[in-house]
Amino acid sequence: MPIPFSPPRIDEKTIAEVSAALRSGWITTGPKTKEFEKRIASYCGIKNVVCVNSATAGLELVLRWFGVTKGDEVIIPSYTYCATANVVIHCGATPVMVDVCKDFNISIRNIEKAITKKTKVIIPVDIAGLPCDYDEINALVHHPDTIKLFEPKTDEQKKLGRILILSDSAHSFGAIYKGKHTGSLTDITVFSFHAVKNLTTAEGGAICLNLSSAFDQDSIYKNLSIKSLHGQSKDALAKMKLGNWRYDVFEAGYKCNMTDVLASIGLVELERYEDDMLVRRKFIFDSYSKAFSKYNIFELPQYETPDKKSSYHVYTLRIKNISEQQRDAIMEEIFRNEVAVNVHFIPLPMLSFYKNMGFQIGNFPVSYDNYSREISLPVYYDLSNEDINIVIDTVINSVKSILKIN
Ligand SMILES: *Cc1c(COP(=O)(O)O)cnc(C)c1O
Repeated sequence: MPIPFSPPRIDEKTIAEVSAALRSGWITTGPKTKEFEKRIASYCGIKNVVCVNSATAGLELVLRWFGVTKGDEVIIPSYTYCATANVVIHCGATPVMVDVCKDFNISIRNIEKAITKKTKVIIPVDIAGLPCDYDEINALVHHPDTIKLFEPKTDEQKKLGRILILSDSAHSFGAIYKGKHTGSLTDITVFSFHAVKNLTTAEGGAICLNLSSAFDQDSIYKNLSIKSLHGQSKDALAKMKLGNWRYDVFEAGYKCNMTDVLASIGLVELERYEDDMLVRRKFIFDSYSKAFSKYNIFELPQYETPDKKSSYHVYTLRIKNISEQQRDAIMEEIFRNEVAVNVHFIPLPMLSFYKNMGFQIGNFPVSYDNYSREISLPVYYDLSNEDINIVIDTVINSVKSILKIN
């Protein structure tokens, strides 16, 4: 039996909760979605969370709320999933890509060099689940020189008075930075609950608001919820109340609300996330690191530091001093032995669309080096101890056989 890469954890409890949601008579946005939002907020230690149908939609809603548009620049890492860049392009703004560090996360030094008077937002990405250096990123946008450059146009931009930090925490739900959970580390954080992510609702996302008291967060919560539903003054549940049929539309909003059927999966996932899911994922990470640390050829991922604790999302193994072609050959050999592996990520400047925009991988040497030697290993709740050992043996044997070493 092949070992898959990251199937979701679906068991009788999940199925029972989804069945209950289906039988409840209310299947779209309603009480379960609101409950899920409250539980996420409490888990992250913040007050307001808006659930949507994907992280992509969540990121775009926030950019739209902040008024990001043509002529604006948004700084993103070159090493991420395409969603991070595409939402900027949807808004008509320009994605400014900067290279990353050896730990896969965006380089603060490079952000600093990329800031201009057009910069409106920075989107750091917690690759593989490891939080970025948020103290440094936050300090950078609060620095008087950075503030002086900022040219606010919309009311929200004037109120903030500086560059907005919107973290793409698609990988890092449950990760910790200096004692605090992701979701509470920057102005706004977006999580993904896509099927391959640590905590899933099949498809889904959450926007976590952590703005200063200059902002009325309850009203931003309401504004974003309305934006996710056509700019309509009442959601379907409110309109269902007898006699409550009349509604208004405030703006040409979007359609990206979360459904109660999917929130019911999320509620089960969240309930057993901290003490069960994260514990198992950490065990898998530790097992891999223990085995591979015996060989000098492997470069192990950093997933725990004095300041940071990963969410153990992707185990990013690198092999020292190999070419991209050798990495590909090793992966082929691993596939032949029926273990599913992956690469996180192909840097954006290597993909056609961004290449056609003028991005060149030669300008992102660390991204290329990380990518060319990386192999992501299977990590999922139901991966058995026996399977962990099969993965380890398969990787070691494949590396030895392709590189012809003992
Ligand atoms: C998965 C992912 C997204 C997109 O999440 P969706 O919920 O599928 O929209 C965004 N950024 C990164 C880094 C991702 O890995």
